[in-house]
Amino acid sequence: EVVTRFAPSPTGYLHIGGARTALFNWLYARGRGGKFLLRIEDTDRARSTPEATEAILRGLDWLGLDHDGEVISQFDRADRHAEVAHDLLAKGAAYKCFSTQEEIEAFREAARAEGKSTLFQSPRRDADPATHPDAPFVVRLKTAQEGATVIEDEVQGSVTIRNDQLDDMVLLRSDGTPVYMLAVVVDDHDMGVTHVIRGDDHLNNAARQMGIYAAMGWPLPVYAHIPLIHGADGKKLSKRHGALGADEYQKMGYPAAGMRNYLARLGWSHGDDEFFTDAQAKDWFGLDGIGKSPARFDLKKLENLCGQHIAVAEDAGLLRELEEFLAATAQNPLTETQRQGMLRAMFCLKERAKTFPELLDKAQFVLTESPVVPDEKAAKALDAVSRGILSALTPHLQNASWARDDLEAVLNRFAEDQGTKFGKLAGPMRAALAGRSATPSVFDMMLVLGREETIRRLDRAAT
Ligand code: GLU
Repeated sequence: EVVTRFAPSPTGYLHIGGARTALFNWLYARGRGGKFLLRIEDTDRARSTPEATEAILRGLDWLGLDHDGEVISQFDRADRHAEVAHDLLAKGAAYKCFSTQEEIEAFREAARAEGKSTLFQSPRRDADPATHPDAPFVVRLKTAQEGATVIEDEVQGSVTIRNDQLDDMVLLRSDGTPVYMLAVVVDDHDMGVTHVIRGDDHLNNAARQMGIYAAMGWPLPVYAHIPLIHGADGKKLSKRHGALGADEYQKMGYPAAGMRNYLARLGWSHGDDEFFTDAQAKDWFGLDGIGKSPARFDLKKLENLCGQHIAVAEDAGLLRELEEFLAATAQNPLTETQRQGMLRAMFCLKERAKTFPELLDKAQFVLTESPVVPDEKAAKALDAVSRGILSALTPHLQNASWARDDLEAVLNRFAEDQGTKFGKLAGPMRAALAGRSATPSVFDMMLVLGREETIRRLDRAAT
């Protein structure tokens, strides 16, 4: 069974790179009937905050990246991590090192002076435990000194690190607390993680982590270290490029499905496919489609995909997400009348909207519960001549069949009788029906509003 995990450090919001890592792990597991686990790496007590954990959980929830089982706190498992360090001591794969910070510094000084490697080599590596002093110690892993560690990475290929570049890393500090590197390996092992998919800033850690797997005789997970995300200019992603928290994208009103589609494409590809559904992504996603070079963040592409997802979204689900957007941005919730109006109008609202604010903007004609007040531009379209035309129009609508083709025929004929074209009627009608000059099509608005309300608005504007 495939088991993946997302293991964020709760030191800030869920940023776009983290969201992408989570998504890749989620897609990989969900496409294979596997499990996607969540572990909060909160061992750095000074930097970890419960607020950050909350923000990460909220971000994942918004993106729809549901995890299996309980959320695991790494800090809560410290005893288990220490237990493994003691197992390694018992096996002789780790040792107690009594060197003080000053002694380690002195070692480095001397090595530097002699032009030798400054990697610390403990004099206690092979010492007989019977000769141990009664003093504070750290536990170090006895790392192989010859040969090389080869990371067989699904994205980076074979990455070789000479073992003489690795020192005997500390597993337990002198106060008995486990180090992060040990915690990651023990947790991944105990959680049954089969695939570690994470940012390539962790590639070097993999070499060290492999030493612990080897010493414990545990099977290695499959590694896939994915290149980080860059800005459109190829530079490291920063706030300026859109390196915002996931919740910022929610607040800007991007639909989660579009965001997932976009994030999936950020560093992974499936032929020329740009737009795809979740089902397709789960079906298609694999480690072989992950590129070796950094993906570039591109807001235009995100918007484009979001527009396509809104266009095909199912109406009730889209309305639900729009209401969540209103809540997330502390805007007034919709009234029941407005909800019903939105549902009737959805077919024409979702055509060209890329975000929820755009959708709401198009929806103004159906959201206004009081008489339409034309804005400045729309007011200009309602001059005396236009008002005259509108008042001449309404009698033609009294008995018209309220279907698109029939309405089109009625309006075209009316325009012709007036010695003009329908195009000339559209401006005043938009102003009358919506109070704006940019709106969904006049026919769509008429269909949504219905005969009575359409005539009421046209009459009101005409007088
Ligand atoms: N906690 C690490 C991070 O947030 C991830 C470690 C891992 O995936 O192994 O970068």
